[in-house]
Amino acid sequence: MTRMLGSGDRLVIASHNRGKIREIGELLAPWQIEVLAAPDLGISDPEETETSFEGNARLKALHVAKASGLPALADDSGLEVAALDGQPGIYSARWAETENGSRDFRHAMARVHAALRERSAPEPWRARFVCALALAWPDGECAVFEGEVKGRIVWPPRGDRGFGYDPIFLPDGEAETFGEMEPARKHAMSHRADAFAKLKTALLAES
Ligand code: IMP
Repeated sequence: MTRMLGSGDRLVIASHNRGKIREIGELLAPWQIEVLAAPDLGISDPEETETSFEGNARLKALHVAKASGLPALADDSGLEVAALDGQPGIYSARWAETENGSRDFRHAMARVHAALRERSAPEPWRARFVCALALAWPDGECAVFEGEVKGRIVWPPRGDRGFGYDPIFLPDGEAETFGEMEPARKHAMSHRADAFAKLKTALLAES
């Protein structure tokens, strides 16, 4: 029988990314599920050794579900740029790493732009955000749902909302980048919202 989550249940978000924890918490708000964050429980992120968004989401959710004894939800996501053969892809966070070990997304966005210029890639620079959401239970059961939003890369970056690559991503049919858009509008159309809609149908009780 498929297990469902609902009012009063506790769920751990298997992430150290506060932007993601906030967005997932907002998506879950209608279910009155008690949302906890893995770093607040002293649980560290496992190494992301898989080669797909789905594999890494599964690995993170299972790690945290087993460590906490509670159901855990993990998100593995990133930006795929068609003219870069899908890069940065599962390495989206790594592309932001600087020489001193900190993360800087202005640096990551500039790398994407430089790589497109280096290849003389013709515009429009097609791209998509992908999100795999995995919900795991402590006994090893796990379900994964994948979502996407299609668009293109713009340069220079526009807007200071959102996080990560949002300022260079213009979704299809929109005039504003994810970095300029009202957060509620982004949440309604994002790759995370798409994956979440699939997860909701399968695993969340009626809110
Ligand atoms: P990971 O899933 O934690 O390995 O990292 C995914 C990376 O992809 C994030 O650090 C962001 O750089 C990028 N990313 C994922 N989702 C979004 C989004 O909604 N907006 C902007 N960047 C994103």
